[in-house]
Amino acid sequence: VVELRDLTRTFPGPVDALRGVNLSVESGDYVSIIGPSGSGKSTLLHILGLLDRPTSGEYLLDGHPTGKASEGDRAALRGGRIGFVFQSFHLLPQRTVLDNVLLATLYSGVPRAEREERARAALDRVHLGHRLSFTPATMSGGERQRVAVARAVVASPKLLLADEPTGNLDTKNSAGIMDLFDELHADGLTLVVITHDAAVSARAGRRVRITDGDLQEVS
Ligand code: ATP
Ligand code: MG
Repeated sequence: VVELRDLTRTFPGPVDALRGVNLSVESGDYVSIIGPSGSGKSTLLHILGLLDRPTSGEYLLDGHPTGKASEGDRAALRGGRIGFVFQSFHLLPQRTVLDNVLLATLYSGVPRAEREERARAALDRVHLGHRLSFTPATMSGGERQRVAVARAVVASPKLLLADEPTGNLDTKNSAGIMDLFDELHADGLTLVVITHDAAVSARAGRRVRITDGDLQEVS
């Protein structure tokens, strides 16, 4: 799915956030990324999600070179292939759960009835099918993150990228999100999850560590 070759990312400063990263993620992999604050984890995830471009090196997504692709081509490559989950849920607190997920399908070109069907199915997948008309403002952190996961998978991506998805959750809600990721993985989704939490990284089949922009396989 993902192939990174000698990837670097340098920010003005200069800050060498990534220094020659090589990484292959195969379909069905569940990879956790650990490493100290400032080591380059989010930078790597943004590049994987085509939200940022490397300074040098090659990123192949499903065999497609992404380096010289236009923003339009990158958006097309991203759409339906990649879902994102963040630490802070980025939901619209006053809109319903169903609306929050529906909004993610707004520009898919799919008719409204079909979009609604997909949104309901995504919310069923995260076990919130009975909370469609609730608003995030009235829900727990764990439930909010479930809504965010439903939004991330509503377009049936193959790759789910998560940046500290349990960072704002207590132990019980974290475990719920990890169980959900296990279910999505069992359904065939490829996952790349950044985490500071050993319990989260223990769920992944593969662990990689980033230290000062260098990536090493841990197990
Ligand atoms: P944390 O665990 O705190 O989230 P991280 O491993 O995700 O840290 P990154 O956010 O990837 O770390 O940052 C890596 C380095 O790149 C840091 O030195 C950071 O200051 C720098 N950096 C990240 N984004 C930018 C940016 N947009 N402009 C300038 N420097 C940046
Ligand atoms: Mg980060």
